[in-house]
Amino acid sequence: MTGATESQGPLSVPSRAGVLPLVGGTLALDFANTTSGIGSAHWLEHLRQPVHVLAWALHAGLIDPVALTEWTEALADAAMESLLPRALALRAVIRRVALDLMAGNSGAAADRAALAIELQRCGGTGTLKPSPDGYQWHWQGVAPETILGPLVVSAIALPRWSAEGRLKLCPGEQCGWLFMDLSKNRSRRWCEMQVCGNRAKSRRYQRARHQADP
Ligand SMILES: [Zn+2]
Repeated sequence: MTGATESQGPLSVPSRAGVLPLVGGTLALDFANTTSGIGSAHWLEHLRQPVHVLAWALHAGLIDPVALTEWTEALADAAMESLLPRALALRAVIRRVALDLMAGNSGAAADRAALAIELQRCGGTGTLKPSPDGYQWHWQGVAPETILGPLVVSAIALPRWSAEGRLKLCPGEQCGWLFMDLSKNRSRRWCEMQVCGNRAKSRRYQRARHQADP
């Protein structure tokens, strides 16, 4: 997690959707990490307007930068009104499912149903293209599905990552970011060592110093 300080509320700082570190290891988790510190005084929400979803999608490579003007203009169209609410609903489902999987559950039936509905909506506009690993979903055009389709496809792969013990939650204070541990010995602990890891290290150092030198 980056960007949280003592006094920030979820709406008190500019959205950083377009510059957030993409450390989740997979699209669904990078998308889940567009908020942090949920439930704490340090809660940050980076998806507050449809344009923030576009900024993140561009950052994550889901939108062709050449078409950015077209995307931005399209936000005025009725067809794009569903983008932000569907994105936020999908993000909430991804977070819940990931936490359930890490707790050893297979996810709530309602969340699986929500993923299925979004997959059906997006699948109706997607195509399958050959790739070295088989077929790959592909979306094009200026529509919510071009952004949400790849996210929901990434989300339904989470159980596989969880089964391999690679799905993790950063233990950083007021963080809550999710990530895939792709390290050989599955030893990755932090979303970003230089942020949450160093903060924890610094707190340990301060405590030790305090105890040694009261
Ligand atoms: Zn973290």
